[in-house]
Amino acid sequence: MEPPAVIWDSALLRYDLGGDHPFNPVRLQLTIRLAAELGVLDGVPLLIPEAASDTELRRVHADEYLDAVKQAPMAGWDVDHGLGTDDNPIFTDMHDASALVVGSTLLAARKIAEGEARRAVNIAGGLHHAMRERAAGFCVYNDCAVAISWLLDHGFDRIAYVDTDVHHGDGVQAAFYDDPRVLTISLHQHPFTLWPGTGYSAETGTGQADGAAVNIPLPPGTRDPGWLRAFHAVVPSLLEEFQPQLLVTQCGVDSHEEDPLADLSLSVDGHRTIYATLREFAERYAGGKWLAVGGGGYQLIRVVPRSWTHLLATVLDRDVAPDTPIPPGWLDMVREAAPQAELPLTMSDGADTAYRAWGDGDDDPVDVAIRDTRRAVFPLHGLDPDDPRD
Ligand SMILES: [Zn+2]
Repeated sequence: MEPPAVIWDSALLRYDLGGDHPFNPVRLQLTIRLAAELGVLDGVPLLIPEAASDTELRRVHADEYLDAVKQAPMAGWDVDHGLGTDDNPIFTDMHDASALVVGSTLLAARKIAEGEARRAVNIAGGLHHAMRERAAGFCVYNDCAVAISWLLDHGFDRIAYVDTDVHHGDGVQAAFYDDPRVLTISLHQHPFTLWPGTGYSAETGTGQADGAAVNIPLPPGTRDPGWLRAFHAVVPSLLEEFQPQLLVTQCGVDSHEEDPLADLSLSVDGHRTIYATLREFAERYAGGKWLAVGGGGYQLIRVVPRSWTHLLATVLDRDVAPDTPIPPGWLDMVREAAPQAELPLTMSDGADTAYRAWGDGDDDPVDVAIRDTRRAVFPLHGLDPDDPRD
């Protein structure tokens, strides 16, 4: 079996929104360092991406928007298109750095399409909020949508996209809202309580694609068992019915309890379980083809490095046991850079991820979301929303 493709180059750190912006590239650096110290990357060639061309970016972005991004560092103000805001500040090399992120996910897609890898992972990707004509939510160009669009032209007719970021995967949903070839599924904190305010269960796609957009809005405070209960109540049935040729997953880790920007209460153990489940689903429903990208995640030291090390390890079939101690070399490095930071000691939060399957007769706080989502989309797939066997 072909080894998984791991995309990484320190040039990706140039996607830096500057100052004390929460989207700090140090999270990627700390992840790669932790994975390396744990031996997860031993003998793994790190594939170096090139920037995506304008032709590729135009798959999902308007010409006028590309021009605005390129000119923004010179224009200074009033560039519109969501640029120059607190969320999406203008930075030097904005176009080039953003195009490189897209190129990194495109490289991952290409490796799978060309049969050189069944799985590929790019922790620098996952900029799922970028829209056709505007930047949003720290995202300039939408690498997920560009890669999916490219894959549709390179041998794939049915792609499932699963988004586990705490925020709704609105940009990817919008890009394929009328395209029945792409099933988008997003689990996120309820839009009443979190930006971008979309991702209701009633958003199901349009025309021929009605049912191809799936949203599971979860109540604030949802922990691992509730998240997993909702995930298992909705996702496997749809994947089995849709029969994707490839699973694309956005693996944002801002769903963690300690994340400063949102209010779900998952743990690093929950993230580890999610990745193992996504791997299993890729094997069972998508011929083993799995493209995983990063996404949000703003607890830079205690959460992102551990969770995405688990992601890299899972993709590489080098699973790291939860009780594995954090290597001293990594701790020393972080202590030197951030003496005040509270450091994690193991690869676990000690959380219990056991969940009860939906349909057990109990009434769990997430069951409203489960019921609403199943009723909104299951009939469109020939499934019975009220039958736990479906
Ligand atoms: Zn997010």
